[in-house]
Amino acid sequence: MARRAALSVPRRLLARLREVMAGDAAAEERLGQIVSIIASSLACEVCSIYIRRAGDVLELFATHGLKAQAVHRTRLRLGEGLVGTIADQARSMAFSEAQKHPSFVFRPETGEKIFRSLMGVPILRRGRVLGVVAVQNRTTRTYRDEEIETLETVAMVLAELISGGELVGRDESFPADGNALLPLRLEGVALNPGQAIGTAILHQPQITVHRIVADDPVHEQARLREALAALHGALDTMLADSAVADPGDHRDVLDAYRTIAEDAGWLGRIEEAVASGLTAEAAIEKVHNDIRARMTTATDPYIRERLLDLEDLALRLLQHLVGSDPKAIRQAMPADVVVVARSMGPAQLLDYDVASLRGLVLEEGSPTSHVTIVARALNIPVVGKARDAFTRIVQGDPVIVDGDNAVVYVRPGDDVQSRTLDLMRAREREEEIWQASRDQAATSRDGIDISLNINAGLAMDFGFLKTTGADGIGLYRTEIPFMVRSMPPSIDNQRALYAEAFDRADGKPVTFRTFDVGSDKRLPHWAGPNEDNPAMGWRAIRVGLDRPAMLKNQLRALLDAAGTRSLRIMFPMIAEVSEFDAARALLEREIIRARRRGQALPEKIEVGTMLEVPALIFQLPRLLERVDFVSVGSNDLVQFLFASDRSNAKLAKRYDVLSPLVLRLLGDIVRQCNLADVPLTLCGEAAGRTLEAMALVGLGFRSLSVAPPAVGPVKAMIRSVDIGEIERFVRTLLDATRSSVRENLREFALDHGVNI
Ligand code: PEP
Ligand code: MG
Repeated sequence: MARRAALSVPRRLLARLREVMAGDAAAEERLGQIVSIIASSLACEVCSIYIRRAGDVLELFATHGLKAQAVHRTRLRLGEGLVGTIADQARSMAFSEAQKHPSFVFRPETGEKIFRSLMGVPILRRGRVLGVVAVQNRTTRTYRDEEIETLETVAMVLAELISGGELVGRDESFPADGNALLPLRLEGVALNPGQAIGTAILHQPQITVHRIVADDPVHEQARLREALAALHGALDTMLADSAVADPGDHRDVLDAYRTIAEDAGWLGRIEEAVASGLTAEAAIEKVHNDIRARMTTATDPYIRERLLDLEDLALRLLQHLVGSDPKAIRQAMPADVVVVARSMGPAQLLDYDVASLRGLVLEEGSPTSHVTIVARALNIPVVGKARDAFTRIVQGDPVIVDGDNAVVYVRPGDDVQSRTLDLMRAREREEEIWQASRDQAATSRDGIDISLNINAGLAMDFGFLKTTGADGIGLYRTEIPFMVRSMPPSIDNQRALYAEAFDRADGKPVTFRTFDVGSDKRLPHWAGPNEDNPAMGWRAIRVGLDRPAMLKNQLRALLDAAGTRSLRIMFPMIAEVSEFDAARALLEREIIRARRRGQALPEKIEVGTMLEVPALIFQLPRLLERVDFVSVGSNDLVQFLFASDRSNAKLAKRYDVLSPLVLRLLGDIVRQCNLADVPLTLCGEAAGRTLEAMALVGLGFRSLSVAPPAVGPVKAMIRSVDIGEIERFVRTLLDATRSSVRENLREFALDHGVNI
């Protein structure tokens, strides 16, 4: 009933607005009627409409509730005050305590001092902000999502009215100069860190095929063969290019891509289409269309990547047939380029001049996308899953890619540009400092050593051991290399990969975590079942124990690769002690087998577990009798503790790892591990954030494993903190009843000069 009532609000409101729009009152008068209708429909004391004028100024054009004298007098610059911020960022915002917000500015002529809450949405047309409609209330009101959506719908009607040109001249709303389009802020996921400023190039490979029916099928077959030979030759040249020639996962990805170009099934389908009477181009297009159709329904990330590879290849083949050179785009490239694409095959990125390539923005993309892996090898920041980036960014737009914070700034204002440049410079300076501290120990001010390790997945991560000066690899996610390769994880290729890890670690410890497959981590040759709740489904050690062949092969490959070197193995998602026992028994059997065969064995084998399922915490006394070490996986532990999906952006800020509850729990784990004399580390993302890392050492953690870029900042934090002091402080927070003690920790850090 309540839902139906809620739904009828926008419908009724729209009906009333339609009446106003259909009336013959002057535009400004209609605007006055509209603000009153919105205010009464949404039960707000104020509704105001600001319209953007030339010079990036927002002018109050109509209000219900603010002082009438403010109309046409109150003006805000873009980015000024909350309304200016909404326009600047082109996104809706709601504040229950607007006046406490640092961006709030008070305009006395409006008399708005008495209004505490504010919700505003941008009035958008074709990606450009034409104005802002805002409502306010005296109380500290929390605006609901449906209310924001209703106001957004209303803003579309207002866009219609404003763009009519009666209120402000059309030239003010739509400057002829394309660069004057409004700034835009797009959020996505961070796929590769760093910041970049450049000019947007829309990646739009399109070739229109005009000749469909072949005059001479034999001739078409010959053309196809010729184009294929040219394609293979060009790919070989590209792969030999120095920018990507080094070994590593990106190389494997590109080699696999090269192999697909020889794929008999793909080529056979194109040949069949030519045989049916199509021209070579039309045949490729036809097969390509099938691939596209499959792309729209394929949800499996691996299959999508393969289809993308095929799409990339089909396009390249077409280019050879019609004689257009993919490298031609290089000539027309500006000096600093940010490529914006819906999705991309790995080789397409290399068509751009890599010397000018500064960043990459993708509407799709994941950490294991092939194009991401190539971009990582090129060391450029990447933001993925940036919704509508391709349609909202215009070719030639200035763009900032912030790969640290997963944000893309399009057409940024001078303030954002200079802030980013400052940030980039500060980052360079910080990096120099971190670089300089590479060989220094992570020792606190009061002389306590912390072991600082890195998390690795792709072979390219091993290189970070040297560049960061980390103590070892605290978590090697062994499933990652096989998520990006087309080959199955056979014993041979696992052995080679693990041996490389040992070699590159050069005596530093590597903790190999056995496959955590299932959930969002799918292997190409092991798709797994479709599950309603994959994160809590048949994954990780559950698969390993139910289908022991895969786990046995992995353990065998690890023993082979280690030879006589010390080996550390860790099992993921252990929920019961008996699962650890069963996994360890499999390892023991492999050790016995190796011994029987006279094989050299590691001088030391340590076997540990991830602690990421809350049930295991209650079994710690029994667990600690059996394990050689424990590594807390805070990503999953927090997810399962709060029943809060770790990949759901809506929940990202809902529960804080710095809650007294989590801190108490972690403190208890530390206490029990210390009592049992079992080494403990934490390898979730929290360890890589300086404030969280400070709390963790304050709880007694003496070992952390972090993403490689976090080593420098976390080390700087440790070197500036007195652990005795932070331990005492953290103890005072454990019994707090609020949901987060983040602010208390931040204040401590600021007061005590801790480098966070
Ligand atoms: C964790 O859960 O915290 C963890 C480190 O493992 P993953 O992120 O690979 O699930
Ligand atoms: Mg985990």
